[in-house]
Amino acid sequence: MNLMLFGAPGAGKGTQAKFLIEKYNIPQISTGDILRAAIADKTDMGMEAKKFMDEGKLVPDSTIIGIIKDRLAESDCKDGFILDGFPRTLPQAESLNELMSDMGISLDRVISLNVPDELIVGRITGRRVCPKCGASLHVEFNPSKEEKVCDYCGGELIIRKDDNAETVKSRLEAYHAQTAPLIDFYTNMNVFTELDGTKDVSEVTKDMIESLS
Ligand code: ADP
Ligand code: ADP
Ligand code: ZN
Repeated sequence: MNLMLFGAPGAGKGTQAKFLIEKYNIPQISTGDILRAAIADKTDMGMEAKKFMDEGKLVPDSTIIGIIKDRLAESDCKDGFILDGFPRTLPQAESLNELMSDMGISLDRVISLNVPDELIVGRITGRRVCPKCGASLHVEFNPSKEEKVCDYCGGELIIRKDDNAETVKSRLEAYHAQTAPLIDFYTNMNVFTELDGTKDVSEVTKDMIESLS
């Protein structure tokens, strides 16, 4: 199963990806996580990408496409994968189609989690993430049992550097200007399914699993 989770920053893609990993036993490919790992490793690519990420701007397509090309070639992707936060521009979507067609595979479904901008700000500013296992919790909507401790792995929960009210604005602008055009692109490919992402986490999961069966 080759899936993609689509939606604004903070729509719940990472949260829902965790359930798909378990259900289908396929890896989540988050370009955001890969970029943050490169920053932690202080690679040239990471240092270059950081400038864009700190400002809430998209990282250049050439960097992102290179990352995905390498990642899809890894052996754990052979039975499928969940794309999370990629593609975010038309050139990225076109490159993905080309890449997948070269690999003899195609996208089974793009699941869009629809959440209006007004709700996004609260989701992003209250987000607490676990750098160790990638869990994405929320101080109000999805709190950890113990403050600052990840429920899943015991790691320390942190606030992402770009999760502030200032950066959210530019990230939403980038989403509407550069990413939203992909809605038509994937609707035309007949793979686009829209879900109400404002429901509780467990309800969204239920709708998502239902839409895939
Ligand atoms: P969120 O889930 O909150 O949108 P991500 O972890 O997906 O955050 O992305 C964090 C940042 O990494 C983005 O704001 C952007 O700068 C960069 N980024 C991640 N994925 C892409 C992509 N596919 N294209 C361009 N930039 C990306
Ligand atoms: P994305 O990967 O799309 O950027 P996340 O999965 O990281 O989004 O979710 C953003 C924030 O919103 C996190 O703090 C998460 O715990 C919270 N969240 C996710 N889904 C929901 C939901 N259905 N209702 C309320 N809060 C949610
Ligand atoms: Zn964790």
